[in-house]
Amino acid sequence: MDQEFINQILLKEIRERKIPLSLGKTCPVKCTFCYEKDHSYFRKTYDIPLTTEENWRFILKTIQSLPTKPSESWVIGGNEYMEWTDLFLHPRTMTWIEEFLETTDKNIIMFTVGYVDPQNINRLAEKYPGRINFELSVITLGKYRKQLMPNGPSAEHVLKVLDGPAVTSANFYSFGPNTMSEDARIISKVNSKCLLWMGCLTPLKTLDSETTRVTRLGREHLPYEAKKVYDANYPNITMLHTESYITAFLNRKKIFKTLDACEIEKKDTVVMAGNVYRVLKLFRPNRAKYLYVPNATLGGDSDCTTLLTFNDIAERLTDQRVVYLPKVIMEGSGNQEKDISGNLFEDFQERFPRIRFKVLHKVNSSMSNKKLYEKGYVKNYVEDYLGNPLHKKFEAVALPN
Ligand code: SF4
Repeated sequence: MDQEFINQILLKEIRERKIPLSLGKTCPVKCTFCYEKDHSYFRKTYDIPLTTEENWRFILKTIQSLPTKPSESWVIGGNEYMEWTDLFLHPRTMTWIEEFLETTDKNIIMFTVGYVDPQNINRLAEKYPGRINFELSVITLGKYRKQLMPNGPSAEHVLKVLDGPAVTSANFYSFGPNTMSEDARIISKVNSKCLLWMGCLTPLKTLDSETTRVTRLGREHLPYEAKKVYDANYPNITMLHTESYITAFLNRKKIFKTLDACEIEKKDTVVMAGNVYRVLKLFRPNRAKYLYVPNATLGGDSDCTTLLTFNDIAERLTDQRVVYLPKVIMEGSGNQEKDISGNLFEDFQERFPRIRFKVLHKVNSSMSNKKLYEKGYVKNYVEDYLGNPLHKKFEAVALPN
C-alpha cells in the first residue's frame, strides 16, 4: 500500500473528526459481542498498516491546520474507514495524545476497554481539565468478563483506571441478576463523579449462541437491575441508553407530534422498525399505514428505525405507489444520503422506479439523539416506563410477519 493512498484514507478520517491511528491488524481483544466481527454490511474499510512516527506527524500537522470549534471533539478509538480496534494498544498512543493536547487547543473523546496506564491518564486529565472526554467500556466486572472479553484487561486494572479524574463515563451492561447493579455499586464507590451508562448489549446475527444467550438474560433482568440502581440513589448520573423500545415508548408523544407535523394522511405508507411500530399501533392505530420493516441486515434482536437499511426496506415493498421514509435512515455518515451499510438513497430509488419516495425530514438524527438523551435516565425507565402499566401492553403488540 503506497504512502499516498494511506494519506488519502487518513485525510478522509480527519474530515470525519477522527484521530486515525491504526494497529495494523484486527483487534486482538476478541470480545465475543464485538459488532466489528463482521462489519462487511456496515461499511467498507481499508487495512491501514501500523501507524508510524511519520504517519503521526502527517496526522498531527493536518489537524493542527484546521480551525478549532469549541463544540467539537476529536475521536480516538472509532475510525470510519478502518476497522475498529482498541487504539490504546498501540505503544505510542499515550505519548501522541499528550502531544496532541499540548500542541493544539482541541478536545478529544477517547474510547477504550481500559488499555491505559492509570497514573498516566489521570495525570493528563489533571493537566488538561475539560479537554478529555474518556468513555471507558467496562462492559462487566463480574463473572462473565473472561467469557465475553477473553483478552480484555483485568477488572482490577479497570478499577485503577476509574480511580481518578480521567474517566467521564463508564459503560456496562446487564447480563442477569446482580450484574449491572453490582457493577454500578463497585464503580460508584471508586468514582462517584463519572456518568454510569448502562443497559443491555443487543445480540446481532453475527454473535455466537452463548453470547446471545447471556445478552438475552441481561435484557430479561433489566427491570430488576435498573430498580436496584435506582433505589441505591448513587451520586453519579445514571443513564440507560441502549434499548430502542424503551426510548420509543418514553418519547411517544414526540413521535405523534412529529408525525402530525409531517402532514401525513391515513392512506399514506410510512416505513418504521418495530420500536416505533409498536408505539403507533398501540396509541395511534389508524393514523397512517405503518410499514413494519425488520432490521434484517443487523439481525438478532435489533429493533431500531435509525438502523434500518435500504435493503431491509426493499424486502418489504410490494405494490405501494408512494412511500414515506424517515430521514434518520439516510444519515449514515458524511454528507451523502447513505444508510448505515453505506448504500446510497439515489441508488435505492433507481431500483423502484414505480414508487415515489418522500422523505420525512423532521424525523432526523438530531431530533432522535436529543430525545434519547432527554429521557435516557434510569429514573425515566423506572418511573415512566416500568411505572406505567401500559408498558406491558406495549411490549405485547405483535409485529406483522
Ligand atoms: S476492544 Fe472493541 S474493537 Fe476490540 S474486540 Fe473488543 S469491542 Fe471489538
